Amino acid sequence: MSRRADGYDYIIVGAGAAGCVLAARLSEDPQVRVLLLEAGGANRAREIRIPAAFSRLFKSSMDWNYSTEPEPHAHNRQLYWPRGKVLGGSSSINAMIYIRGNRLDYEHWRSLGNEGWGYADVLPYFLKSENQQRGASPYHGIGGPLCVADLRYVNPLTRAFLAGAKELGIPPNPDFNGVEQDGAGLYQVTQRNGQRHSGADAYLKPALGRSNLKVLTGAQATRVLLESNRAVGVEYVSKGATASIVADREVILSGGAINSPQLLLLSGIGPAEELKRAGIRAVTNLPGVGKNLQDHPMVSVGFLCKQPVSMASAESLGNLLRYLFFRNGPLTSNVAEAGIFARTKPGLNVPDLQLVFGPAYYVNHGFDTHKEHCFGFGPTLVGPESRGEIALKSPNPLIPPAIRANYLSTENDLRVIVEGVRLCRRIARTKAFRAYSGDELIPGSSVTSDRDIAEFVRGALQTLYHPAGTCKMGQDEMAVVDAQLRVRGIEALRVVDASIMPRVIAGNTNAPTVMIAEKAADMIRNRREFAGSAFCLATE
Ligand SMILES: Cc1cc2nc3c(=O)[nH]c(=O)nc-3n(C[C@H](O)[C@H](O)[C@H](O)COP(=O)(O)OP(=O)(O)OC[C@H]3O[C@@H](n4cnc5c(N)ncnc54)[C@H](O)[C@@H]3O)c2cc1C
Repeated sequence: MSRRADGYDYIIVGAGAAGCVLAARLSEDPQVRVLLLEAGGANRAREIRIPAAFSRLFKSSMDWNYSTEPEPHAHNRQLYWPRGKVLGGSSSINAMIYIRGNRLDYEHWRSLGNEGWGYADVLPYFLKSENQQRGASPYHGIGGPLCVADLRYVNPLTRAFLAGAKELGIPPNPDFNGVEQDGAGLYQVTQRNGQRHSGADAYLKPALGRSNLKVLTGAQATRVLLESNRAVGVEYVSKGATASIVADREVILSGGAINSPQLLLLSGIGPAEELKRAGIRAVTNLPGVGKNLQDHPMVSVGFLCKQPVSMASAESLGNLLRYLFFRNGPLTSNVAEAGIFARTKPGLNVPDLQLVFGPAYYVNHGFDTHKEHCFGFGPTLVGPESRGEIALKSPNPLIPPAIRANYLSTENDLRVIVEGVRLCRRIARTKAFRAYSGDELIPGSSVTSDRDIAEFVRGALQTLYHPAGTCKMGQDEMAVVDAQLRVRGIEALRVVDASIMPRVIAGNTNAPTVMIAEKAADMIRNRREFAGSAFCLATE
């Protein structure tokens, strides 16, 4: 195949956690031309940099501002789903918690036939990506692009949370990403010098000076261009106009777990019957596209705080100055400062509950406020059995797809969160919390029976922002990509983002997505060397 002067070797759709890694790694080779398309704009907002301000980005121009369809097991509520629409994607609006999940998560991926995705295979990519403040160890890397740091400020309530957990016999865990995942501990965060270190900061920014990398912002891909069964480019919309651009080697979709499957469906790659109903000609019948949607749902459990120590006063002038001059103080907090990974019943080999703690009133994504000092817990289901889907509502690419999370569709999923609510209460009643714990605001002390707590959970459930699995990697008929992340049945097209997880890992999903992209970049570059020599032969 000859090289077109106006084309690129690789077109990456989406400059999120994964897309930034790919753009940086692939453009390390000066011989290849890389185009990174991003629907959002620059990541210069102050609220991106200041860690404690992340929820200010919700429903802003940097958010896709999605909503689910009415959730049948959550009182038919339509739930808000923020996703980053900006350089860095969701890594520019997330809570910065650095968690890899459980080693058995990856053993499970491999057991599904995904060669090369066991824990021993993926660990080197976590290390490669990492610049760990605590130094190198068998579990951590230094010198990688992504800064992983200890929190510069830890609220006294968070210390009480850790002491309270210990009182209950929950073992302290100084490193959730080390030997053991279980236990209670402070989170490490993706920060550098007290500021957010997004995928765009870590990977893209240092690569921007390369002449073989072009980044096009404000450009929303609307379709993958196909010739026979090969991806040859991308159609996109920018400033209201439609344009297309060719990829000589590969198109790589990194639009995230909602947008990547949407783009495949819009391109005629998906369940044939559904495509027909949506008025789209099926190029390849891939029944798994958009299916297998998994997420980590949680509820907020909130208490009044008897002392004025919470994040309610984080934005005082003193704290602002402390942040501006010393990059320290409460504004460097990611709010969700600590957590617990626990198993809610015997026999589980991986934690199914992550209990997030914050010295703040974090209810309804931070939109609800309370005038007094408060603290709160977020018991989160991290081993969901429920499966949902992304489906087209319209062949118009600018209309968001239907998101059906299908939360709480199994009794067990509900049970885990109910157990989590009970655990929050036990911690709030420990000696360690005695000086702080005031009235229980949410759900309130009158809600005590399993039935009432379950009712509360259905009415208050929200996302913890970790959708995954909608273009799953595997070998069964519902698999969308193979273990090299190539879309089945289509040449020169890959998906590289959180959507390829066959099962969502038991923890926060940013670090695993970075790892996926690091690994994919190696796979693509090896293949490129092979393809490169074929190209030379063909053009001689
Ligand atoms: C509010 C919030 C808090 C979170 N907190 C944490 C946390 O503390 N720790 C953690 O580990 N994880 C957290 N996450 C999850 C984590 O950020 C994501 O798992 C991760 O960013 C997923 O990476 P991705 O590359 O799959 O998608 P994204 O990072 O979402 O990137 C997708 C990118 O593609 C772009 N895009 C999409 N469609 C198109 C198109 N058609 N054309 C062009 N561009 C397109 C988007 O604008 C976006 O920039 C959080 C997420 C959110 C939203």
